[in-house]
Amino acid sequence: MVKFEAAIGRLFKRVFVCRNCKTKIRTDSIRIIAKSVKCRKCGGKDFRVIKSKAKAGA
Ligand SMILES: [Zn+2]
Repeated sequence: MVKFEAAIGRLFKRVFVCRNCKTKIRTDSIRIIAKSVKCRKCGGKDFRVIKSKAKAGA
């Protein structure tokens, strides 16, 4: 799951969305996995990749 998200993150320019308040954050997927990213709005640490629907291989 985490690896999958990392791969997607690489594809989609490393933009993530806070699960809490939906703020967009641009960072490395590695930092998301390591939970070293905090949402600047709500301080949450749960992020998802911006395009969750995308399953098309590149
Ligand atoms: Zn947030």
